[in-house]
Amino acid sequence: MLIDTHCHLDMLKDLKGALQRAKENQVNFIVTIGIDLKTSRKAVEIAETYNFVWATVGVHPHEAKTSTDEVYKELEILASHPKVVAIGEIGLDFYRNLSPREIQINAFKRQIKLAQKLGKPIVIHCREAISETWQILVETEGLSCKGVWHCFPGDVSFAEKCIKAGFYISIPGIVTFPKSTKLKQVVKKTPLESLLLETDAPFLAPVPMRGKQNEPAFLHYTAQKVADIKEVSLKQVALKTTENAKKLFNLG
Ligand SMILES: [Zn+2]
Ligand SMILES: [Zn+2]
Repeated sequence: MLIDTHCHLDMLKDLKGALQRAKENQVNFIVTIGIDLKTSRKAVEIAETYNFVWATVGVHPHEAKTSTDEVYKELEILASHPKVVAIGEIGLDFYRNLSPREIQINAFKRQIKLAQKLGKPIVIHCREAISETWQILVETEGLSCKGVWHCFPGDVSFAEKCIKAGFYISIPGIVTFPKSTKLKQVVKKTPLESLLLETDAPFLAPVPMRGKQNEPAFLHYTAQKVADIKEVSLKQVALKTTENAKKLFNLG
């Protein structure tokens, strides 16, 4: 059994078919992620419809510029839904800078506070902003939230720092790409106890599915790659990462 800890089911063409294929490929639990109010609502709706799907709600740094006080108010109400397992994805994206940096920082801080208030973990999105993201976590005592660095953006020493603080490292399909040397090193050095698996579907389809729409059913390619890098069995990877995800997100 595998758990896809980060995907965007609302963006998939043929959701029903994708969920069917997920089950056929032993992906028995899925966490679908919100990036703004609309997709957060949609994530909760999908989680209400399918018992093996859970949701997160949050405002992605790209969407931070469109989020008003009203949005955060409604997000807080949504976040109390029993199938909402985390606040996310939240963080900083200084690569694409689709929202002004100041606004990204405010949105991130605000949602860390929400996670602290509700006692939920956070799903962090971070691109080209590792030190800034870390600094905010320290300033806001956001390290106490625990959570996961999705699509892990750092190197081995940063992974060690995150793990020490109690965070999980989530491995996307990028690890199957020939050029992903840094991420492969992270997988090699990080204990299985701190790893999660994700597709980030519909994005980042793993080898040999590159160019196609990614979906949870493809998670096993990433799991197999992790097993190969760590020189352990696929079963071990599946067991441990499933246990980790259940623990972090408190999945029944
Ligand atoms: Zn992301
Ligand atoms: Zn995402």
